[in-house]
Amino acid sequence: MGGSAYIDESEWIVIPNTHEPLINCEQFEAVQEKIKQRATRVFRGRGRKSLFARVAFCADCGAGMNFKNDRQSYVCSTYQKNTSKKCSSHIIKHDALKQVVLANLKDLIDNSLNMQSLVDVTIQRAGIKKNSAVKELE
Ligand SMILES: [Zn+2]
Repeated sequence: MGGSAYIDESEWIVIPNTHEPLINCEQFEAVQEKIKQRATRVFRGRGRKSLFARVAFCADCGAGMNFKNDRQSYVCSTYQKNTSKKCSSHIIKHDALKQVVLANLKDLIDNSLNMQSLVDVTIQRAGIKKNSAVKELE
């Protein structure tokens, strides 16, 4: 990286307070920290590899969800390892998890499509305004 593409901070044009930040700096830091912690948690992949085996994590303890072939389900690996009460099984059927993920992806796609059409409309309107301004000047 670096070279000509890099623009020095002194060259930035900053227009503050033009919109509400989605999250503040502390929240951002906290989220980054959480992602880091989760990433460094060792995934002890017992059980067969499967679609969500290294993607799904237990919401309670943050451990990976292991796939249980015999039940076509995922269980919290902490629960599976200890079978004690360190965490509950949080068992979820592969199909159920897949449905949830697909539904979320669909929402995401729908929303981004809406965003795109919003952008298109805005550009179109801006174009019309520009054209009429040009005509007026002529
Ligand atoms: Zn757990």
